[in-house]
Amino acid sequence: MRQLTYDGMPIPGLNDLVRTAIRLHPAPGEPRPDESHFGGPLLWPSDEPWPECPVTWPPDPDASDDAWLGGHPLDEPVPAMVSAAQFFRDDFPELPFPEGTDVLQILFCPLDHNSPYHQGPAVRLVWRDSGEVGDIAVPPPPPEDAKADYLPEPCVFEPCSIDELPRLCDFPPETRAALGIPEGASEDPEGWPELDQYSKIGGWTPWYTTDRDDLGCRDCGAELRQTIALSTVEHEVGCGCEVAEDEPAGWSFARQDVLNIFTCPTDVTHPVKVRID
Ligand SMILES: [Zn+2]
Ligand SMILES: [Zn+2]
Ligand SMILES: [Zn+2]
Repeated sequence: MRQLTYDGMPIPGLNDLVRTAIRLHPAPGEPRPDESHFGGPLLWPSDEPWPECPVTWPPDPDASDDAWLGGHPLDEPVPAMVSAAQFFRDDFPELPFPEGTDVLQILFCPLDHNSPYHQGPAVRLVWRDSGEVGDIAVPPPPPEDAKADYLPEPCVFEPCSIDELPRLCDFPPETRAALGIPEGASEDPEGWPELDQYSKIGGWTPWYTTDRDDLGCRDCGAELRQTIALSTVEHEVGCGCEVAEDEPAGWSFARQDVLNIFTCPTDVTHPVKVRID
């Protein structure tokens, strides 16, 4: 392995900084409601209301998950959400699942919303016990003014695993202190492996266009952790697998960026944060 150093100094605890991400390798397909996918049918019970956008104005502090600067006025119909992704625990045991649940469902409000950090779809995460779902809901059509960029084509996954190292801004405080990294320094050490853009579970955030900022949990203060990356493009790098199509889901976030979902390591049901980077 290449010697990785900072300013000529060996990096303490380098092996502990490695995170093994599950690269999803989405490919166009026809997933069923009981399969993991992007943009396919959700295993959503017909007797449960279909979710609406959580970003309303005035804001609902219990429903909204980021520092949105505006939202859908509550005196008008609030848009219905669309299926963005579904992950079963059997396929992705690396994901955090609250006790008694075995499927994670991700929904988008396919319109633009403004946060201090980005403009993009609103995101809602729902965990459930698949065994409790009887009849499956027929989803309402997407809102008429939905952005095509936020309506994914159905994809199935051909996952593989890939080891990743963090960017300098994600080094733990003790590593920064041991190396004497000055406050505010963000340049990666020379020869540091690049983090490329692809959809994945776990791993580290590439931080291409935005800065790492304000990622404390709103409920408990713990530092939120990179959990799911939904990428516009699938770079053919890093893992050695072939990429059949570089934009299989057909979605596009900001300037062909990655929509990163951060969850709380203490309790995954605490409010998530999203950064498009
Ligand atoms: Zn919305
Ligand atoms: Zn928390
Ligand atoms: Zn791969």
